[in-house]
Amino acid sequence: MSETFLAYACKGKSQPLEPMEVNFCTWDDDMVQMDVICCGVCGTDIHTIDEGWGPTEFPCVVGHEIIGTVTKVGKNVQRIKVGDRCGVGCQSASCGKCDFCKKGMENLCSTHAVWTFNDRYDNATKDKTYGGFAQKWRGNQDFVVKIPDDFSSEVAASFLCGGVTTYAPLKRYGVGKGSKVAVLGLGGLGHFGVQWAKAMGAEVVAFDVIPDKVDDAKKLGCDDYVLMQKEDQMEPHYNTFTHILATKIVNKCWPQYMKMLKNNGVFMQCDIPEEPLSNIPPLVMAGKQITIAGTFIGAPGVIQECLDFAAKNNVRTWVNTFPMEKINEAMQFVREAKPRYRAVCMN
Ligand SMILES: [Zn+2]
Ligand SMILES: [Zn+2]
Repeated sequence: MSETFLAYACKGKSQPLEPMEVNFCTWDDDMVQMDVICCGVCGTDIHTIDEGWGPTEFPCVVGHEIIGTVTKVGKNVQRIKVGDRCGVGCQSASCGKCDFCKKGMENLCSTHAVWTFNDRYDNATKDKTYGGFAQKWRGNQDFVVKIPDDFSSEVAASFLCGGVTTYAPLKRYGVGKGSKVAVLGLGGLGHFGVQWAKAMGAEVVAFDVIPDKVDDAKKLGCDDYVLMQKEDQMEPHYNTFTHILATKIVNKCWPQYMKMLKNNGVFMQCDIPEEPLSNIPPLVMAGKQITIAGTFIGAPGVIQECLDFAAKNNVRTWVNTFPMEKINEAMQFVREAKPRYRAVCMN
């Protein structure tokens, strides 16, 4: 008989999560098992439940900002010990052999990337992967990172997806002293974006549509906050930014976004809207040599680097916590864009 554990599973499109016993994946010598301490709620969980990006194999246990205490390690595991506090993000395995895996870009693995939920391991039994809204997590050691002691577990959780998703592109495109960064959307991703950019030495301006976020923007370190209620409010900012970190975009504003960038500017698209990007003005993009960049989570090495950078530079998640049993309330809270700025469920 296979071993099971208690999880909160979604049994069909847009259904609430319900307690359910699910099977552990088959144990092997490279695996780590944790008792889940907490797990953050991220937009991807909702896109998956709603099948917004494609089909989901139900029942599905979402949750990919997982912090836990290690309770068991395989024979080949040396880096991680029983009792360590560790974390796992969106990805749980990769092929380890392709060009991207070999260069520390496992998030771009072109052959066997395995996602933390709504996926199957590449083992003989093709076991389903289950995410962090559960009592336990088990998976490959390579995707388990160590959590610095500087953070509480609830503060650490959201670095595993929301944090690294915003850290990685800012780092990749050279944000530092002399950069001026616009962060579009001061929400779960944006609140990380402004803190990273500031800690990297840039001048930072946040753009959002909600008036009462002004004080938060200041506390997060923004040099300015633009309440975007009309398109012409972007005009004074034309030709001023070296980088735009977009966590929420409106297609009709692409001409303004392009105009806000300086020549050779970089537009980093962090979230993944369910609709295609459209209305990008090719002439402005060409004339200013603008790079429009996609970015996709972070490899385990980058997640570790992001956690260490946050510990050193006092970047912290602003968290609203919920008991794990209230997972559906937490999901609804995120659906309504209410977190200031991430929601995390605690076991
Ligand atoms: Zn690979
Ligand atoms: Zn996520």
